[in-house]
Amino acid sequence: MKRKVYLDHNATTPVDRAVVQAMLPYLHEKFGNPSSLHLYGREVRAGVEEAREKVAQALGADPKEIVFTSGGTEADFLALRGAAYANRKRGRHIITSAVEHHAVLDTCEMLAEEGFEVTVVPVDRHGMVDPGRVAGEIRPDTILISVMHANNEVGTIQPVREIGLLARERDIVFHTDAVQSFGKIPVDVRELNADLLSISAHKIYGPKGAGALWIRRGCRWSPINRGGGQERRRRPGTENVPGIIGLGEACRLAVSNLDDEARTLKTLRDRMVSYVKENFKGVWINGHPGKRLPNSAHFSFEGIEGEALLLDLDLNGIAVSSGSACSSESSVSSHVLLAMGIPDEVARCSIRVSLGKENTKEDIDYFLEVLTNTVNRLRALSPIK
Ligand code: PLP
Repeated sequence: MKRKVYLDHNATTPVDRAVVQAMLPYLHEKFGNPSSLHLYGREVRAGVEEAREKVAQALGADPKEIVFTSGGTEADFLALRGAAYANRKRGRHIITSAVEHHAVLDTCEMLAEEGFEVTVVPVDRHGMVDPGRVAGEIRPDTILISVMHANNEVGTIQPVREIGLLARERDIVFHTDAVQSFGKIPVDVRELNADLLSISAHKIYGPKGAGALWIRRGCRWSPINRGGGQERRRRPGTENVPGIIGLGEACRLAVSNLDDEARTLKTLRDRMVSYVKENFKGVWINGHPGKRLPNSAHFSFEGIEGEALLLDLDLNGIAVSSGSACSSESSVSSHVLLAMGIPDEVARCSIRVSLGKENTKEDIDYFLEVLTNTVNRLRALSPIK
């Protein structure tokens, strides 16, 4: 193995050193319970509230609107269920898209089992939701719309502002899952016309198991869990203090250098995509050509199972994903690719390459060199040419 190259940042990111430094005191000497009234509790409460301010500032929100969660999955779950149940006397119809993360889709499925009605709007071949289609599905009993800001697999950035406006004009609660977009492109809760927005720390060089749900003040939303007064009763349970501190610092860092980082990643990503386009036959480049996260690329190499490619790259020290990390244990084709109309036999031949701030030009050169050898070798072995 010549070198190790991590190209799976949409699955998770390494924790930034500054984030580790910020967290360390809260793993040891600052151990108090933030709900305790004594000095030990108060100093930790101060840290938690400072983190809340950092998160709020990064999102253009008010700190009181931030609820800490165990990550993106819980934020999505609380957003959808909290809005559905708070609005159920007004109606029971929910709209979402076919390319949402399972955190949203599975929660919608659960709500459907509980008597809500869910409409899943399709996407075009780039994975894009048409706001017109969303508008066409709105009914008098529609209470909630949830469309993600950017897709975790193909990186397509959705017209969330327009969809949010549609919802606002009709007094419908609008949630957007910004787990993948936040830290890669600007995210401002007011500009997106959102009512609820989810983020996760481990996608932005923070720790795993920490995230936040932004709940617009005045939004019709009610808590789901019971058991304590934490987070203003919106999410009870003793706080994951080191995680929250890490999330706060990661948010601060994420926005402090966003434009430069995005530009650098986009240059590297575009070079890689151009090389693949020019040097490989039978390759699909998936996702929207322009409206796409700057760090993300998604390829299908006809005739080569994505998993075989992933394993071969792994033997050479390169980490990519053969789909959404969350579903990489099963070999069913990704629902996102199928929703985009990519045939099953092509969808199975896909890899996602997602860059991060520690990647260099040399990393990409090495990846392309190994990819070329691997694709040629596997194609030579494959009966499909
Ligand atoms: N939403 C999206 C778009 C994601 O990509 C992910 C994780 O991959 C999640 C939600 C879940 O976030 P977490 O891993 O913090 O639970």
